[in-house]
Amino acid sequence: MDDNLKTLIQRWDGLGLVCRFDHPTQTWVFICLHDNTLGPCTGGTRMKVYSEPGEGLLDAMRLAEGMTSKWAAIDVAAGGGKAVLAVAKPLEGEERRGLLLRYGKLVQSLGGGFRTGEDMGTGTDDMQVIAEEADYIHGFHPEDGSKVDPSPFTARAVFVGIRNAVSEVLEGASLNGRKVLIQGVGSVGASLGKYLKEAGAELIVSDIDEPRCQRVADLLDATVVPNNEVFSTACDVYAPCAVGATLNHETIPQLQCRIVAGSANNQLEEPADADRLLARNIVYVPDYIINAGGALSFSLLDKGLSDRQALLEQMDVIGDSVAEILREAGAKGESPIVAAQNRVDRALAKARDNS
Ligand code: NAD
Repeated sequence: MDDNLKTLIQRWDGLGLVCRFDHPTQTWVFICLHDNTLGPCTGGTRMKVYSEPGEGLLDAMRLAEGMTSKWAAIDVAAGGGKAVLAVAKPLEGEERRGLLLRYGKLVQSLGGGFRTGEDMGTGTDDMQVIAEEADYIHGFHPEDGSKVDPSPFTARAVFVGIRNAVSEVLEGASLNGRKVLIQGVGSVGASLGKYLKEAGAELIVSDIDEPRCQRVADLLDATVVPNNEVFSTACDVYAPCAVGATLNHETIPQLQCRIVAGSANNQLEEPADADRLLARNIVYVPDYIINAGGALSFSLLDKGLSDRQALLEQMDVIGDSVAEILREAGAKGESPIVAAQNRVDRALAKARDNS
């Protein structure tokens, strides 16, 4: 085994992991099971080309850890897990299907100890293929088996999270006239923009896909900013809805906002970035709290709640969590990351005490 893989496995404190090499497609398959205190390890399946397998394994480990926190923070009986299919090249057609079926068998062999759904690089069509072999796949309507896109629920939860963060941090509770900069106007960002516009916010948008960015800007009456001006543009709320690690030692000194709150996963490049934001008096809403709407909607669907409007209304729970965390952090003068972690630790300790 490659030394990097060995080191990563030796250092990881998760529950365990499954590693398999899929010869027909030259794909490394990693299923990382981080913690099952609250329930079976559950998290998406990411498909991506990495420069080396260790990068894919590290991604799976970090994402699995994040899922433990996400489920605990929203009080869902699931544990942290994540899978990465580290493909050698983008896969289409029969090659892709073959990999997904073999992966489905592997998931099934874990007997429900790992449950999964779509993530970056996979979609509901892929989940349907995996579900031919595995029983533990999320993302389908409980009544008719149709596909469910998590993005509208994520967007709704980010919206209520931003609304509550504004009311906690800025004078006056309303979003009316507040400047919100959305970075990445894909499935979540564009839908978030609609909610914010309805609430009277003034929108600024940015996306590396320029035609898409202009289309969304026209729909939302938004101002477009070039990608290299995102961090230095003055706004009340910066909403990262594109990629991770946008908050780092280079970007944080440039920020001209009071709140950071968006859907992207792993927004902080390193833990010290939370302190950098605190030092600049910028309130950071932890990503795994505010972007948990898709995960929450899937857990509610599994419980049989299938009405779309009712599901959207359930996203208020995430807004409540954001408000509680910001209040606790504000009272102690700490980063909201600390309050979020306390919440996770309390949920895990309570479950251990009850077992
Ligand atoms: P998406 O692929 O539909 O949209 C992402 C958008 O970001 C695209 O328009 C893309 O062109 C743009 N983009 C990519 N790199 C960029 C960059 N460097 N600068 C500016 N724009 C860039 O994805 P999505 O489903 O909208 O998800 C957005 C983010 O939220 C992702 O980080 C995702 O992991 C996270 N997230 C999504 C969900 C969900 O339910 N979809 C749930 C939790 C977290």
